[in-house]
Amino acid sequence: MSSPVALVFCPGYDEEEVEKAVRQGFALFGGPGALCPGAKSVLLKPNLLVGEAPERAVTTHPAVFRAVAKVFLEAGYRVGFGDSPAFGSPESVAKKAGILEVARTLGVDFADFTHGVEVDFPEGVQHRKFTIARGVREYDVLVSLPKWKTHGLTRVTGAVKNQLGCVPGVRKGEYHFRIPDATLFSRMLVDLNRLLRPAFFVMDAVVAMEGNGPRNGKPRFMGLLAFSRDPVALDATLARLIHLDPALVPTCSEGERLGLGTWRKEAIVLWGDDPRRFEQRDFEVLRIPRVSPSRKLFLPLVRRFLLPYPVIRRELCKGCGVCTEVCPAHPKALCWNERLRLPSIDSTRCIRCFVCQEVCPHGAILVGVPLVRRMLGRWHDSLCSSAGG
Ligand code: SF4
Ligand code: SF4
Repeated sequence: MSSPVALVFCPGYDEEEVEKAVRQGFALFGGPGALCPGAKSVLLKPNLLVGEAPERAVTTHPAVFRAVAKVFLEAGYRVGFGDSPAFGSPESVAKKAGILEVARTLGVDFADFTHGVEVDFPEGVQHRKFTIARGVREYDVLVSLPKWKTHGLTRVTGAVKNQLGCVPGVRKGEYHFRIPDATLFSRMLVDLNRLLRPAFFVMDAVVAMEGNGPRNGKPRFMGLLAFSRDPVALDATLARLIHLDPALVPTCSEGERLGLGTWRKEAIVLWGDDPRRFEQRDFEVLRIPRVSPSRKLFLPLVRRFLLPYPVIRRELCKGCGVCTEVCPAHPKALCWNERLRLPSIDSTRCIRCFVCQEVCPHGAILVGVPLVRRMLGRWHDSLCSSAGG
């Protein structure tokens, strides 16, 4: 069976243009009735990582949220929205991102993403019990509105990773601590998607984020709204557009392995506009090969020579302490150094989760790559090019 992905050009965030592109995407899939048969209520899940203005490209743009909400409201659905940010309250983040105002204007309810309920998932491969935001359980279907950005742990954050925000508050940090390996963490994300089963995905890649994402990277115009029912096919298609091999994206390979979707090119059917229109050859993203430290015996060596690590750029640090607050390691790997008046990282405790890099409000934490790993990356690239990409 094939997985359709629709690519629709959108020149910017002008409300009318976004609405036109969103309606085109929904029409290609038969409209909301065909996507959510039998449902009466829909929960929209934008990416609200932290409170930043829309032009920073950290969060799903309010114009995209507005257009999708309108499609469902016009079709007679009760519509709500929510997300659990990495830092800050859901309400303050939604306000800063411009989504709360749009929701209030349209009459879209703000669902409870602060409190959680325990849900058993016996079919889970990595995880068999999740804490899910109460609001998610109060709607018939979930429609996911991810933002396409780079990410320290999983290379990119897109459709599969967007559902992590359905886990409320500090629980997300616990998952990071218990599953520090990127492949196993991605397997948990895939389990979470298999449990929640979003009915549809609308990816905001009109302005994506490259470089030091998902908070402090550079906004990058792609002019793309992408639609699919298959989150793996959607992420794999976007990865190909930025010339990132989907095999390097653990959420894609684990998603295929556990039957969530497909990343194989021959199994994906592209609808809509010509994909060449959206290609970004020089998109700044980590392209090094994946390493899974599954053998505990080698873990210290793997950590030292192969795993990327967080680096604090002292000249950019403002000493706000956010990173020390969110570090999920027990005991914490990031502590305040009184003598230096800066945070410092204990590399022996650091689990390489990159939560600190994700939330630093001043872009003062970067992803460092060990020399051996960079050399492996060049070797991998040369193999790919000699094999014809
Ligand atoms: S979050 Fe960033 S700016 Fe704040 S203390 Fe940590 S490194 Fe410095
Ligand atoms: S220092 Fe950063 S990367 Fe290391 S465990 Fe703490 S939050 Fe994760």
